[in-house]
Amino acid sequence: MNYQAFLVKYGEIAVKGKNRHIFEDTLLSQLQNAVRRVEGEFHVSKENGRMYVEALGAYDYDELMGALTKVFGVVGICPMVRLEDEGFDKLAEAVVAYVDEAYPDKNFTFKVNARRARKNYPMTSMELAAALGEKILEAFPQVRVDVHEPQVCIQVEIRSHINLYSTEIPGPGGMPVGTAGKAMLLLSGGIDSPVAGYMIAKRGVRLEATYFHAPPYTSERAKQKVVDLAKIVARYSGPIKLNIVNFTEIQLYIYEKCPHDQLTIIMRRYMMMIAEHFAKESGCLGLITGESIGQVASQTMPSLACTNEVCTLPVYRPLIGFDKQEIVDISYKIDAYETSILPFEDCCTIFVAKHPVTKPNLKSIKKSETHLQDKIEEMLQTAIETTEVIYAEP
Ligand code: ATP
Ligand code: MG
Repeated sequence: MNYQAFLVKYGEIAVKGKNRHIFEDTLLSQLQNAVRRVEGEFHVSKENGRMYVEALGAYDYDELMGALTKVFGVVGICPMVRLEDEGFDKLAEAVVAYVDEAYPDKNFTFKVNARRARKNYPMTSMELAAALGEKILEAFPQVRVDVHEPQVCIQVEIRSHINLYSTEIPGPGGMPVGTAGKAMLLLSGGIDSPVAGYMIAKRGVRLEATYFHAPPYTSERAKQKVVDLAKIVARYSGPIKLNIVNFTEIQLYIYEKCPHDQLTIIMRRYMMMIAEHFAKESGCLGLITGESIGQVASQTMPSLACTNEVCTLPVYRPLIGFDKQEIVDISYKIDAYETSILPFEDCCTIFVAKHPVTKPNLKSIKKSETHLQDKIEEMLQTAIETTEVIYAEP
């Protein structure tokens, strides 16, 4: 079936009250951004609390669905036939033709659900539904009516046009990106942080990202993998400004001066500090990491407390209570998994100790950090000044 129009359903609870306009305007512009990336011409509109996407010419259905199902705030997408009101007979003809084309196999139960936004229509909703149901039964004697649990529910909406649809493709839910401020994602090449970014973007938050690389210990390919992951997350969140920090000098310095069982924690504290610097510079309201309690030594509660201690912005850890498999499931769903598991070294694995502390003591960590006082300020400054910026577009 060749659909030219789509009804976009969005969460009604989220749009009550005075935020409704912000929600709707943002969703509208995110839908426009999404169709701009699809080959073909489309018109996105808002009409009486409904949103529509219309194709103005040829397009690829799967490509369009791929784009629309990544727009947060969308609850469902109904491919529909849009008709002018030319009287009941024409409508009945169109409904019968629709059923014939959309359901080649006529072995199903159905009901017609009619609604009138326009009360001057000459039939009531009930009369219209019953009359259309009868026409369908006449045309296809094999189908049966089931008003309680129909397999197919044919929606007929009388508005300025008449909308005809019977299927709904689920959207991603959430809130449109741009309704909730911006946050800084610490993005590594692993499985977790892209998922964490996806989850926070789903609540309407725009993303910026920071990646720490350690050339020559980490390769160009490892860096490219992170850029690729940012692009994958950007399919949902929109473009991501990615700060790529050269972390080698700082890591080597920590390695030289601090006890090796504390390396990871101290390194992570400096990562958070630098990420927070960029976050504040660009108006982010929080940091995001892919941490989850107990996953590795640096993610025990005492370790998280030590890492957190350097931050003044809130740190959002959307995966904190997730098992690895639950994270992997989302990673698959958002198409990041294949990229995340590419076997390139990341900067933490190279300097990792055989037996990292699992219960770091903040006092002792701070004491070790005093060994860095000669050069660390200057090194942080250099790392910030030499940061490379890449814009990751979907
Ligand atoms: P991930 O799968 O996200 O890499 P992980 O399981 O490997 O996570 P860690 O290496 O302990 O866990 O990292 C925890 C979090 O710290 C990551 O989710 C990410 O947010 C951040 N992080 C770690 N390494 C880097 C890096 N090189 N650049 C930016 N952020 C990083
Ligand atoms: Mg990692």
